[in-house]
Amino acid sequence: MKLALAGIGKIALDQHIPALAASKDWELAATVSRNASVEGVPAFSDLSELLAQRPDIEAVSLAMPPAPRYDYARAVLEAGRHAMLEKPPGATLAEVHALERHARQKGLTLFATWHSRMARGVAAARDWLAGKTVLSGKIVWREDVRHWHPGQDWVFEPGGMGVFDPGINALSILTEILPAPVHLASAELDVPANRQTPIAARLRFSGGITADFDWRQEGPQTWDITLETDAGRLVLGMGGNVLEIDGRAIESEETLSGEYPALYVRMAELVRARKSDVDLSPMVHVADAMMLARRNAVEPFFWDTQR
Ligand code: NAP
Repeated sequence: MKLALAGIGKIALDQHIPALAASKDWELAATVSRNASVEGVPAFSDLSELLAQRPDIEAVSLAMPPAPRYDYARAVLEAGRHAMLEKPPGATLAEVHALERHARQKGLTLFATWHSRMARGVAAARDWLAGKTVLSGKIVWREDVRHWHPGQDWVFEPGGMGVFDPGINALSILTEILPAPVHLASAELDVPANRQTPIAARLRFSGGITADFDWRQEGPQTWDITLETDAGRLVLGMGGNVLEIDGRAIESEETLSGEYPALYVRMAELVRARKSDVDLSPMVHVADAMMLARRNAVEPFFWDTQR
């Protein structure tokens, strides 16, 4: 099946293009980008031109930041094509609900992806936790924003979600593996005095689960989830790619190289079955944190080029 990729930035180059090049299901038939192109692939600078000129393209994968994504997704569905959304799927919950309704009315597939759910240890963690009682849990998601989002001002603009941009990956895993859902009980956000979104967040959920998200970590990076259960301790490390139960290694993959290929396999399955997959539970926790949190103003944030 032919697919177009729109928004040729960091994640498109790092993950989508290699995953599509290796895909048995998809051919990268065009790109849509205001600035960039991919060698050997027909390039459009405007989505409406692509949709008008390439009726052979069945699906469009949208890899731009969440705030501008709704307009693109709406146009894709309006033109009768299937749509695949990077995470987080939108800037608000209601706009993603609207897209979901629109896709259903038109009999099209909408896939709101969560790449971390495809990490190596996540399915095994979910299966092991089924039927057990989680007694407490600790999420530590600490990384260096300057390394992972160099110069990307949108992460600190309204709709950019700040540290929840990576933190929502942890929440996507949590909501996938827990045997019973939890809800946010309290939250604290650190917002740089010159920015709109948090650079760090500390969350406390029902069921004794806490989360510590921080974008100021230099040196080794941490993406760990530890859950204590009535049947032992489960640790998911490396963003879900390493799984240990009571200290015993169950799954181990030191990279996220399998996640995006798995997303495109799933997208092909959904399109063939004419189904959608839109689970907003990770984003509900982020929205709740934005509603409930106590906010601390912290020191202004500047990129290296501004320091
Ligand atoms: P990015 O490089 O800053 O932006 C991606 C591309 O989106 C840009 O190159 C630009 O493409 C397009 N774009 C930016 N602003 C736009 C606007 N206002 N209107 C239309 N297009 C716009 O961001 P990214 O790091 O790739 O992140 C994009 C998405 O991927 C985010 O939702 C993020 O959470 C997710 N993601 C990122 C990472 C990561 O490591 N960075 C990892 C996993 C998921 P053109 O110039 O081609 O138009």
